[in-house]
Amino acid sequence: MAVIKLPSRPHIGDTITFPNGVKVRVADIGIPWIQPPAAACDDPECPWHGNLKIRTKLLEVEVESVRMHKAAVVIHEWMHYVPKYKRYERRRRKLHVRVPECIEIKPGDRVIIAETRPLAKTISWVVIGKKEDVVEWSAKREVLTT
Ligand SMILES: [Zn+2]
Repeated sequence: MAVIKLPSRPHIGDTITFPNGVKVRVADIGIPWIQPPAAACDDPECPWHGNLKIRTKLLEVEVESVRMHKAAVVIHEWMHYVPKYKRYERRRRKLHVRVPECIEIKPGDRVIIAETRPLAKTISWVVIGKKEDVVEWSAKREVLTT
């Protein structure tokens, strides 16, 4: 379980060598508007450096607690339309998400999470990056609001 910080943000496809000789490759997760983290880990359940595949469901959420080991509690808030009153109501739900070792988060951060296969009884989402890692991309808003 090693994490190394990189002096600059790597490109997709770059190979990073750890001091003990282990090599990891920065994977293309299929989302062009989010940049890989400026760190590397040898965690197999990391979408960037491991074998974890992500699904197409993406959410922007707020971190609530990071007390769990390699996992966090996040709050997802959305607006739900009530046809009878022709108004929106606020809905919120807490989700348990996996946090790869190369991504450091703290309570209050805005992060992008992606659906993945069930990793534990209550965990089927993984953090793929922070809000700061998002670059402008015209299709971004469509993806996040559906
Ligand atoms: Zn990683």
